[in-house]
Amino acid sequence: MIIGSHVSFGSSGLLGSVKEALSYGANTFMFYTGAPQNTLRKPIDKDSTLEAQKLMKENNIDINTVICHAPYIVNLANNLDERKYDFSISFLTGEIKRCEEMGIKYIVLHPGSSVGIEKAVALDNIVFALNEILKQDTTVTILLETMAGKGTELGCTLEEIKYIIEHIEKKELIGVCLDTCHLNDAGYNMTNFDEFLKEFDQTIGLNYIKCIHVNDSKNPLGAHKDRHANIGYGMLGFDTLIKIINHQALINIPKILETPYIGDNDDDKKRLYPPYKFEIAMIKEGKFNKEMMNDIRNFYQNN
Ligand code: FE
Ligand code: FE
Ligand code: ZN
Repeated sequence: MIIGSHVSFGSSGLLGSVKEALSYGANTFMFYTGAPQNTLRKPIDKDSTLEAQKLMKENNIDINTVICHAPYIVNLANNLDERKYDFSISFLTGEIKRCEEMGIKYIVLHPGSSVGIEKAVALDNIVFALNEILKQDTTVTILLETMAGKGTELGCTLEEIKYIIEHIEKKELIGVCLDTCHLNDAGYNMTNFDEFLKEFDQTIGLNYIKCIHVNDSKNPLGAHKDRHANIGYGMLGFDTLIKIINHQALINIPKILETPYIGDNDDDKKRLYPPYKFEIAMIKEGKFNKEMMNDIRNFYQNN
């Protein structure tokens, strides 16, 4: 099982991410190269990156399974503001270079939102931008994330993802990141995962799946909301998610948790604790822990 969570990058860069991942008992992880909501980025620190790579090796984290996530604010779908569109393209070109410098093979991208333009035009904007970005000589693959369909988000149907991939020139540098919360919210029933995989295989091809975001959802099938819940504490439930995690067809694909932090109690969010150490332990054990919220609070209040 290749499992980890979203971790921070912080001031020490990748080294901080590796240390955080190890503290959760993970054997992979996902990070942003800076704050997810902005595009301010520092150059990659060589020495600390080397140290991070060494620490990964020592702890059996295969760098080929580690995932970078592009910031949410880049939008390749809308070109009404040409300067913003061009900036998104050049920013992602830079993100790929940063991944390259760290030895990271995959970067997850939200396809984009159409905001005020026709869907078909927006999809072509994404295609154009991705082909521009992938013109550089690189070994970094861009993974299109399946989206919930909140607002004018694209990539919430398999057909839209298929359309983008079909028009990418360098198909060896494009893939898909499934997100179980988003798929549920988009209307794909995760309780019948075999059926979903069959549909995915017929539409896009299973070989394009390179990462899975494993999240429960606060909302029912087709809600188009995108609110993540802790594993087993949402509408998908533990049994559905553990089947996906252990599915033979996807056994070598990294699974990444992006579930919410826990407050001191259900209403008090002043102090927040990461759930990942406990979710990973529960997943490895294969058994739902209905005391998990208390376990998390006890652990972090006493450590
Ligand atoms: Fe995402
Ligand atoms: Fe996600
Ligand atoms: Zn989400």
